[in-house]
Amino acid sequence: MAQLAGVRARWRTEALGEFFCPGCGGDRNYRRQGGRRWLRLLGLPVLPVGDAGTTLQCTACRARYGLDALERPTSGNLLAMLRTAQYAVVLAVLAAGGTSRGAREAALGVVHEAGHSDLDEPQILAALAAMTAADEELGELYGCGSGLAVELHTALEPLAPHLAEPGRERLLTQGAWIALADGPYRPAEQEALRAAGRCLNLSAGRIEATLVAAARTPHS
Ligand SMILES: [Zn+2]
Repeated sequence: MAQLAGVRARWRTEALGEFFCPGCGGDRNYRRQGGRRWLRLLGLPVLPVGDAGTTLQCTACRARYGLDALERPTSGNLLAMLRTAQYAVVLAVLAAGGTSRGAREAALGVVHEAGHSDLDEPQILAALAAMTAADEELGELYGCGSGLAVELHTALEPLAPHLAEPGRERLLTQGAWIALADGPYRPAEQEALRAAGRCLNLSAGRIEATLVAAARTPHS
């Protein structure tokens, strides 16, 4: 039954995409739609009465959200960011502490746990060598270790706002296990881990506590 009179928005789809739907709690497709409000008489739009703004409509639950819903990464994007971050921490710790057998094995464990099941030890060592070579070139321009620092910033900082503190500490702990695989922390390893912790937006206190805790309960 059509209402006698009312105001309803009419929407026009401008773009399609994927987002994390707050209503569904998962990755869904959305329609980005611009809308205008129309005065309707007997169910017919007769007069535009204003702008309804731009919204994202979830194609699954059909609820509408503001464009700020796009600020949250999809679960798929978050997973990819997490893997990139784990790999960057692994390479930074190996670059700082050397590639003893224990460290290589611990590194491979973290990389595989991160879902890079296709990566093997020679590939990790090749990535490390490429990064170290690039670092030497950059080092002449910007100072020692700057390439690694840039790598850590690029990989960790975008992730930090989307990961709760225990998750960020877990990333640091994984790096610590690699450093500890061949004995106590070396000063360079501690520096690399602290740099990673800062990129993850952990306080100096949380960083030290995490490193001490990792040393107390070694990973096996
Ligand atoms: Zn939804």
